[in-house]
Amino acid sequence: MAIKDQPKPPRSRQIGNILLLLSGLFLLASIFLPSFLGPQIPRVPYSLFVHQVQDSEVARVSFGQSEILYQLKGEADQPGIVLATTPILDLGLPKLLEEKGVEFAAVPPPRGNWFTGLLGWVVPPLIFVAIWQFFVSRGAGGGPQGALSIGKSKAKVYVEGESAKITFADVAGVEEAKTELVEIVEFLKTPERFTAIGARIPKGVLLVGPPGTGKTLLAKAVAGEAGVPFFSISGSEFVELFVGVGSARVRDLFEQAKKQAPCIIFIDELDAIGKSRSSNAFYGGNDEREQTLNQLLTEMDGFAAGNTTVIVLAATNRPETLDPALLRPGRFDRQVLVDRPDLSGREAILNIHAQKVKLGPDIDLKAIATRTPGFAGADLANLVNEAALLAARNRRETVAQADFAEAIERVVAGLEKKSRVMNEKEKKIVAYHEVGHALVGFLTATSGKVEKISIIPRGMAALGYTLQLPTEDRFLMNEQELRGQIATLLGGRSAEEIIFGSITTGAANDLQRATDLAERMVTTYGMSKVLGPLAYEKGGQAQFLNDGMGNPRRQVSEQTANAIDREVKEIVETAHQQALDILNENRDLLESISMKLLETEVIEGEKLNDLLAQVRHAS
Ligand code: ADP
Ligand code: ZN
Ligand code: MG
Repeated sequence: MAIKDQPKPPRSRQIGNILLLLSGLFLLASIFLPSFLGPQIPRVPYSLFVHQVQDSEVARVSFGQSEILYQLKGEADQPGIVLATTPILDLGLPKLLEEKGVEFAAVPPPRGNWFTGLLGWVVPPLIFVAIWQFFVSRGAGGGPQGALSIGKSKAKVYVEGESAKITFADVAGVEEAKTELVEIVEFLKTPERFTAIGARIPKGVLLVGPPGTGKTLLAKAVAGEAGVPFFSISGSEFVELFVGVGSARVRDLFEQAKKQAPCIIFIDELDAIGKSRSSNAFYGGNDEREQTLNQLLTEMDGFAAGNTTVIVLAATNRPETLDPALLRPGRFDRQVLVDRPDLSGREAILNIHAQKVKLGPDIDLKAIATRTPGFAGADLANLVNEAALLAARNRRETVAQADFAEAIERVVAGLEKKSRVMNEKEKKIVAYHEVGHALVGFLTATSGKVEKISIIPRGMAALGYTLQLPTEDRFLMNEQELRGQIATLLGGRSAEEIIFGSITTGAANDLQRATDLAERMVTTYGMSKVLGPLAYEKGGQAQFLNDGMGNPRRQVSEQTANAIDREVKEIVETAHQQALDILNENRDLLESISMKLLETEVIEGEKLNDLLAQVRHAS
């Protein structure tokens, strides 16, 4: 079966890599050089040290090769206590120390082994200077500012009056979200009206929804409607290598924004910084992200009293991973769901994007919307563009309905690759495999209809594919339907087993999806009789373990984990048996349709349904 991939944008990390290398050297140096400090000085986490500096509690700092020693400001004429912390390559630190007027110096070389002593004395400052130089030279023209501006936010600012001003008219299919955001626009336009009564203007609004549903677009539309500046930054940009940089960036972003109030700050991919702190406990946490998160919380709490109207919009597709602290009152206490559009929503979105292309007389956008359940706004925008490209390739003046039909398949299954050569034997295997999917799918699906089978390779992974389109939008699936889907996914492999008595690698993706689905039935949907209606996955605010696949699973006993495995296996094996039974019962039909498919390469529509209608239920 075909899969749909969503490519991740590559990100340049060159500078990061250089810094990583240097920090590696620094770390090595500190490991090889013996510590010369006595154990009597209490060691504190680096983050505490930075907080103390920020709160102006620190009097002086001395940098050693394996330790930073620092002294707090004493009470009256008492000397302050001395503390130690582990050095982390932190480029923001010198600036911070300077700002806070803290004395700092390097520790003189320790006595003892002259060589290691010398190394310890020379290497860290050298690295420090090298990095400093690097940034100064990068920021050439900006003078010494280059080194200091590392913490400056890279927030992009969109100001009102740009030629392509985005408004709510550019967003469709998310009517509820729009209704809620209209209120935000009011807040931004006439804050006095609300503050006069004593109403508190919300500070943070979280847009929650799957990728491509228009969260970024909505945020821009809010700014466009209100006519205010729009600062946008992505959460993943905050996650830098060095402690202190991310939080400096947050501080800077809010400073910039406050100067331009009323305005909107938009934080995309909030989950990249706002991940629950507890979920990371297993790996020892991430100091940097935690500091960035803390800074964000501080900033959001900070502009409470003032009369500055800065509204922070943030987007995420994984709200369950967010730190609960972010969702408290006064922070992101409003959540707006931006979900995939329904039938009429899809038609409206198609309407918006179709205005950019020339449509032929036979275009029926409603029919296209009917055939694209599950498509998000971005998929529909992409679909319109694909259809226009197809028309242009065929040197036609306007886009025809047939272009859309083909574009749907492209978007669903990846681009057609007729050039890929398969030998006869492979082709035969793929044909039986796909017919296996189709036969089992036809019998087990209560809501889907098999539209098309093809052995023309598409995309990167799928050799052939079976297109099964639901006849209506489905929001709920029952256990029977899920079991049917798993059997359908295993139908391809089962056909190979029956006909060739051997299994190829072609079914790997099917097996993956079947197993995932079975696991979700047990751990998320509570469909297992043995394990009961418990959610074993994504434990909300509870402490959970990460299974390394990005699927947080609630901490369970070993017996429960075993029971889950057994149940998943049971479901998959039952479905496998069901698929085998269906195909054994209909072996003649499997043969005849496969032969036909080998001839024509594609069977679809009425013809396919007539063929499949001969199928018999397994006795
Ligand atoms: P998200 O931020 O939710 O991942 P985007 O806002 O970046 O999605 O959407 C990407 C593009 O897809 C938009 O620029 C727009 O062209 C199109 N799009 C997405 N959702 C919608 C929608 N609801 N209405 C109109 N166009 C949309
Ligand atoms: Zn398959
Ligand atoms: Mg986005």
